[in-house]
Amino acid sequence: MQPQAKTPFDPAEARVLDASDPLAPMRNRFDLPEGLIYLDGNSLGAMPAATPAHLAQVVKQQWGEGLVRSWNAAGWFELSRRLGERLVPILGAAPDSVRVCDSTSINLYKLLACALQLAPDRPVILTEHGSFPTDSYIAQGLIDQTGGRRRLKRVAADELLAALDRSVAVLMLSHVDYRSGAMQDLAQLTQAAHAAGALVLWDVSHSAGVVPLDLFRHAVDFAAGCTYKYLNGGPGAPAFLYVAPVHQSRIATPLRGWFGHARPFAFEPDYAPAKGIDRLLCGTPPILSMAAIEPALELWRDLDLAAVRAKSVRLTERFIALADRELSGLGVDCVTPREAHKRGSQVCLSHARAWPLIQALIARGVIGDFREPDILRFGCAPLYTRFADIDRAILSLREILLGGDWSRAEFQQRKEVT
Ligand SMILES: *Cc1c(COP(=O)(O)O)cnc(C)c1O
Repeated sequence: MQPQAKTPFDPAEARVLDASDPLAPMRNRFDLPEGLIYLDGNSLGAMPAATPAHLAQVVKQQWGEGLVRSWNAAGWFELSRRLGERLVPILGAAPDSVRVCDSTSINLYKLLACALQLAPDRPVILTEHGSFPTDSYIAQGLIDQTGGRRRLKRVAADELLAALDRSVAVLMLSHVDYRSGAMQDLAQLTQAAHAAGALVLWDVSHSAGVVPLDLFRHAVDFAAGCTYKYLNGGPGAPAFLYVAPVHQSRIATPLRGWFGHARPFAFEPDYAPAKGIDRLLCGTPPILSMAAIEPALELWRDLDLAAVRAKSVRLTERFIALADRELSGLGVDCVTPREAHKRGSQVCLSHARAWPLIQALIARGVIGDFREPDILRFGCAPLYTRFADIDRAILSLREILLGGDWSRAEFQQRKEVT
């Protein structure tokens, strides 16, 4: 059958799904441009409606009027801890085991260094081929600094279990693959790593906020991730890190700044680590960027993560089903796993013209993104994505593919940020 001959979309179907969605009211707590279909919350989360007023108050009152007094009076000094406590239920962490600080890349550096210290005689950092580049770069840099005593071993995702032997110091993995949306079995791999005597460091950048994580229950050793993706903390918002309580007093950060000192304001000449996870802090935190995370995490206060995950699964399910139905024969393949428990909250399609296709979609007000070499990525953020958005995205993509408007010159030029 020719694609043109297919039954037209029935918009009533999505309307019914949206009307019966228990999370639908959450969309009102975001400030999204009218008419825009935003499917890139996995890259930069939407702005919570409460954020501008909160930031204005932090700038005008806490900074403008409170000035340096606000380190105490406005709780700036403990903001890293306070935001970390907000993340405890989202990550399934133990109390006092999460801090918000630095970037994900820097946190990975600190945590990987700490993990390697706990496994001095094992040479291998194990990861998979497709892991997010920054994770591998950080590991390579750290390996160079250890005089070549360690090495990075990269295997295919389905070879990880077999590769977990006595040489492995740390298994360092993304929970959800940024490019395919495939989700690893965090519980199984953590258990297998421990059985081999290895530690785990999970990068949960693409699952925090959309997949219940249970880091503590699964005995995860270390984890880090972004707050600017599904957690909606704002562009470049500081990241989080998690350290299992058993390790906190055993680890020594390689970045020994004064904020991780036992007594920062004693200004002692020599370093002494703070108690517990605070030793992983480094320098003065970026208060304005951290402040934007507070109203974002407030949205999770009364949310049931199981319900968030359930909606996420239904959104991605619909996306895949409609892509199969409406885009077949048009050169599009779905590269995201079809089994719900094997994917995160994004759907990725491959197409030889992925870049101009995404540009043409954006020009029509449907925002997804492109990843090398041929991937169109669509994040389904369950707090603000409607089922009708999924329909619009698929319908637009179908029209673009059939009409050929992706071939226009203006859509070919590659931009710096994709
Ligand atoms: C987005 C992302 C990062 C980004 O790290 P930054 O230091 O914030 O730039 C790291 N790892 C993964 C898996 C990501 O998806």
